[in-house]
Amino acid sequence: KTGFVGIVGRPNVGKSTLLNAILGEKIAITTDKPQTTRNAIRGIYTHYADDNINEDTQMVFIDTPGIHKPRTKLGKYMTDSAVNTFKEVEAVIFIVDDRLSAGPGDKYIVDMLNEVTTPKILVINKIDKMEPDVFEKIYNEYDQLEIFENIFGVSAKEGINVHDVIKCALGFM
Ligand code: GDP
Ligand code: MG
Repeated sequence: KTGFVGIVGRPNVGKSTLLNAILGEKIAITTDKPQTTRNAIRGIYTHYADDNINEDTQMVFIDTPGIHKPRTKLGKYMTDSAVNTFKEVEAVIFIVDDRLSAGPGDKYIVDMLNEVTTPKILVINKIDKMEPDVFEKIYNEYDQLEIFENIFGVSAKEGINVHDVIKCALGFM
């Protein structure tokens, strides 16, 4: 199996960290400062058939740079290219973190995701530092939008449930 997966989310939610966790190498740049990843950095996940995933697999990941309402021509260009990326991939992983309730940045991304029919997976990241009631609130908030095929609580930093996300994305290929 071969396919493309887009990773999208507000700056600092853990896109690069998740990509690193999946690929098992330091390819994308992680930082506390928002928007260090200016370009879509592609990483390739290669897996040989085993008891867990019984098919040879190659997934190409695209780390979409921070998307926000464009105020400049460059911003508009980046947003357009992100929507095109969503159309071209087999699945999109949308990442949010422990910030309670979606901000305008999240809503903007959701609107963009709504424009495409590509299967969407929601990752609620940083569960290692999240209270259960916070997780539940975020989960319900996104679940009621009814645009996500699956929702996972994940810690990209500690590798919790990362494998489930990979398997889920594989299901769309
Ligand atoms: P990006 O801007 O979306 O690519 O976010 P990064 O991957 O650069 O991560 C931003 C910050 O969040 C970094 O300080 C990461 O160490 C931290 N971070 C990412 N994932 C997790 C996680 O699962 N748990 C915790 N506690 N911190 C995380
Ligand atoms: Mg990044």
